Amino acid sequence: MNKCVFCKIIKKEISSDIIYKDKNFFAFLDINPVNYGHALLVPKTHYKNLYALPDEVLSEIALLIKKMAVAIKKGVKADGINIGMNNDGAAGQIVPHVHFHIIPRFIDDGFRHWRGKPYANKEEAVKIAEKIRTSF
Ligand code: AMP
Ligand code: ZN
Repeated sequence: MNKCVFCKIIKKEISSDIIYKDKNFFAFLDINPVNYGHALLVPKTHYKNLYALPDEVLSEIALLIKKMAVAIKKGVKADGINIGMNNDGAAGQIVPHVHFHIIPRFIDDGFRHWRGKPYANKEEAVKIAEKIRTSF
């Protein structure tokens, strides 16, 4: 996809701080990191999001996410790692080239978990679980 910023990064038309590359995948530092070392892992082939990603590519990328998490944790001496993925605008996806965020975390970095909210009642949870079970 010509206009895609990540395709341009992969083709080196836009510079990036590369941390990993192989035949099918590419990883580079996020330009606007949550913490230093925050990286993005992408397939070289343009797929829009998780739903479009072929299962075999996802299987390969899952193994790389683990490798990347270990390397980033070691490289920046992080206390923890968050793996993130935004799919669709409603979920915060800005770049429409499937990517995983690998984010180093530090005990004193000041970030909190997302604020959760309990179900209104037990019946709501039962209904939602049923809706999801029947959607597979
Ligand atoms: P998302 O909201 O999941 O689509 O995240 C897109 C991410 O891409 C953001 O965290 C941006 O900071 C990052 N980003 C956008 N352009 C670049 C770039 N040229 N180099 C590195 N990271 C980028
Ligand atoms: Zn792309």
